[in-house]
Amino acid sequence: MRLHSVSIKRFVFRLTPPAIRAMMPERCIGVYILFRNDTPIYVGRSDHCLRRRLSTHNHLQEATHVAWEFTPTVQQAYVLEAHLFHQHRDHLINKIHPALPEGSSISCPFCVRNTKQALARAFNRVA
Ligand SMILES: [Zn+2]
Repeated sequence: MRLHSVSIKRFVFRLTPPAIRAMMPERCIGVYILFRNDTPIYVGRSDHCLRRRLSTHNHLQEATHVAWEFTPTVQQAYVLEAHLFHQHRDHLINKIHPALPEGSSISCPFCVRNTKQALARAFNRVA
C-alpha cells in the first residue's frame, strides 16, 4: 500500500442527505470528515458505500459540512482515516481509534511515536 497514491483533493459541502445523494456515486469506498462550521468533529470511512454511510449518518444533526475522499482500496481508506483521526482527535466526537478493515492484517502507521518511522511505514519504506 502506498499512501502517496491517494489523492489529496477534497471537496467540502454543506451536509444534507439530498446533496450527498446528488453528488456521490454509489458503492464507492472512502473516508469522510464531518465539520461543525470549520471544526472537524467526526472522522469515518465506508468500506462499501460512502454515499449510503453519509446519507444515514447518526451525526447529521450535529454537523454542518462534510469533506470526503474516495480511495481505490479499503486499506488505503483505513490509512487515510487513521491519519485524519490522529490529526484531529482532540476535536472529534468519536474517540475510539479507527477499526481495521475486515480481514486485514495491516496496522496503523500513525500509532508509532517516532514521526520518521511512522512516515516510513506509511510509504512502505524501511525506517
Ligand atoms: Zn493509530
